[in-house]
Amino acid sequence: MMIQTPRGVEDILPHQISKYQWIEKKASSLFHLYGYEEIRIPTFENAELFLRSVGKETDVGKQMYIFKDKKGRNLSLRPEATASVARAYIQHRLYEKPGDWRVYYIGPMFRYERPQAGRLREFRQIGVEVLGEAAPQLDVEVIEMVCQFFKRLGLANFNVQLNSIGCKKCRPDYEKRLKEYFKRNISSLCPVCQKRYEYNVLRILDCKKESCQKVVEKAPFLKDHLCEDCKIHFEKVKMGLEDMGIKFNLDPYLVRGLDYYTRTTFEITIPSLGAQNAICGGGRYDGLVKELGGPYTPGIGFSIGVERLLIALEKDEMNFFPKNSPGVYVITLDKKSQKMGYYLVNLLRSKGIKTWMSFSGDNLSSQLRLANRKGVCWAIIIGEEEVNKEILILKDMESGKQREIEWRRLEEFSQNLNFQLKRSRDCD
Ligand SMILES: [Zn+2]
Ligand SMILES: [Zn+2]
Repeated sequence: MMIQTPRGVEDILPHQISKYQWIEKKASSLFHLYGYEEIRIPTFENAELFLRSVGKETDVGKQMYIFKDKKGRNLSLRPEATASVARAYIQHRLYEKPGDWRVYYIGPMFRYERPQAGRLREFRQIGVEVLGEAAPQLDVEVIEMVCQFFKRLGLANFNVQLNSIGCKKCRPDYEKRLKEYFKRNISSLCPVCQKRYEYNVLRILDCKKESCQKVVEKAPFLKDHLCEDCKIHFEKVKMGLEDMGIKFNLDPYLVRGLDYYTRTTFEITIPSLGAQNAICGGGRYDGLVKELGGPYTPGIGFSIGVERLLIALEKDEMNFFPKNSPGVYVITLDKKSQKMGYYLVNLLRSKGIKTWMSFSGDNLSSQLRLANRKGVCWAIIIGEEEVNKEILILKDMESGKQREIEWRRLEEFSQNLNFQLKRSRDCD
């Protein structure tokens, strides 16, 4: 029997990869402008890292791929990147460096999800983290940057949802009030939320079930219970966004539900995506580095779900993904011409020209058919006669026109070809 990919895991085939590369390139070049550098964190870590940061009882915590290695160590595929970035920051003592530390990452994450459109068990995220800066102006800059990113991708319709979830000082008190409120209504909550009531009462606020939303509507708002520092911070974030002309909606139900998250939380949503409309989530996590054994360090970040972003881009029928760059197909018809073919292929590649050559020894028409299927701009044909005359034939695949090129002018010819290909390439 044929072996297929596990459920929720997909190949990204070559014809799709240019979309991913296009998005990734846009992200990295923009993030560089804001002073971010790339970090590549491991794909698996000690499970303890995520259990301590994400939490065992949270949605993400329950979806982790935890396994034992041959020595019985408890490991986990990464369900997200923030914990690993914080771990790296502590492990390499990066807090000793002056100023804030800004990194971005691009890569796969793993969660045991129920697979659906835009939600896989291996999925890709693009995200950033900034450690070592508490100023609300940074929150504004981070949100501005992610908006800039979506604009540069050509996404026209997206919304910024904003909330503050307080801090260690003010949230426990609020959670107590919330618990008191939900206790009176616990029978109206869905089974999941009845569990959340025990370990993660904030998460009830963003339950999508209608029965729960009805109860949530009358629940006390955290923004009415923020401490003075959190209030000032939130006001400065809102003012900063207004100053930059960034529209946002206040969403009092937007919570991240993990202990170490603090103050600003935000999401970018796309109305056309329906129920799963968030393509980016982020916020402050001033408590995380300390929680993981480092010195107290404020932090903020966001992550973007690449698969969902792609669905949004395709829904918008954006036709801006770059086409495959065209190339040249070298056709040789016998042993002698093949030798010349190898020489030519090497020459063209050294000039940066994408070049194929058939090893089949098939006749001219079937090789031309292959060249056509590759979508090349030109075919170069060398047969016995061409070898004897020290020429080659250049065929324009679109017009079908042919001309002869002399071997002694190959250098000049390949320069010229490169120039023409560059012009015809769909440049970013
Ligand atoms: Zn507070
Ligand atoms: Zn619920």
